[in-house]
Amino acid sequence: MTEDPAHLPPVGRSRRAWLRTTLATTAAVAMPWSGVASGVAQAAADRRPGGVEHPHGERKSVRRSRWLGELRDQSAVRTLTIGDTRLTYVVDAAMELDPVGFFPAVPDSYWRDRPEALTRSGRVAASAGGVLVERGGRRLLIDVGLGSNVLSAPLGVSRGGALLRTLRALRVPPESIDTVAFTHLHTDHTGLGFIRDRHPVPRKAFPRADYLVAGAEWAPFWRGDVLVGAPSWDDFMVPMSRVLRRFDDHAEVWPGVTALITPGHSPGHTTYVVSASDGRRIVVFGDAFHTPAQLTRPDWPSGPDVDTTGVIEARTTLLAQLRAPRTYGFGFHFGDQAFGRLVRDHTGDGEQWQPVPARKLLPTPIRLP
Ligand SMILES: [Zn+2]
Repeated sequence: MTEDPAHLPPVGRSRRAWLRTTLATTAAVAMPWSGVASGVAQAAADRRPGGVEHPHGERKSVRRSRWLGELRDQSAVRTLTIGDTRLTYVVDAAMELDPVGFFPAVPDSYWRDRPEALTRSGRVAASAGGVLVERGGRRLLIDVGLGSNVLSAPLGVSRGGALLRTLRALRVPPESIDTVAFTHLHTDHTGLGFIRDRHPVPRKAFPRADYLVAGAEWAPFWRGDVLVGAPSWDDFMVPMSRVLRRFDDHAEVWPGVTALITPGHSPGHTTYVVSASDGRRIVVFGDAFHTPAQLTRPDWPSGPDVDTTGVIEARTTLLAQLRAPRTYGFGFHFGDQAFGRLVRDHTGDGEQWQPVPARKLLPTPIRLP
């Protein structure tokens, strides 16, 4: 970790070029993958209707990690049920974000004072994947992970491609997903939207699903105006252009799920507000925040954000959403603390992310070498 200016991204036009070359769009070789099979029986048991979803009454011997993970770990496959709605983080990828390359606005002293927030290699632990939303026999998947893409060196390291196996371990057939909705069109959120399976033409990985994206996100990527983080033209954009359904701000994209356009990280970056029967809500805020520190310091943008002012405005909107009663948040890249809520910190003046207990169904399905 260093504050050497040579490691910081440049500003303006050259900064865009830097981002173009540093963001991931490259296919990687398939990586060995393990760790899910042993959790299958437990996962299936936990997913039975009426299964235990709350820590109260658990034996004291049950390890804390079953409900609460660490910020410095990649996410386990965890689930949280609110009312009639169950959300499960279907983990696809392990990532470690470079504290300087990915978070150029966060002062070095912040990380120095919090060694417990970093991995052994001194990076910020993150995962990528999809959020499976289940209600009344229907299944929505928000984002589809990193797949065979890779994060390039200045931003961090990554290894993806576990999404379909994780779904299999959860006994969720791809055909049972009726809707796939994207928060934004970056490679770590679009990775397994389409698969080739040795066919010359990529096919939908979720053959019966509607594929949804905000019109405000699709148009600039399709015109080629945005290259930062853009997915493969042939393997994602072209097949997506044949099947996509666009929506506008405030659209109800799925029963009880409303889209909120929160631009800044990308032009039409979308938050999904999931509302359950009991009045509780989960705000799936995509990449408006990449690490919990940014909820406390919303003025700390991330390196790949295309519009810093937009990000700060979006965060103001989202923090107001998260302050509402009975509201939780979901952060894709928040280590093993993806499910949480915004609370006052111990000083009473600031706010911070507090992970909420979310049952571990499976260990993290993929690790970095
Ligand atoms: Zn992301």
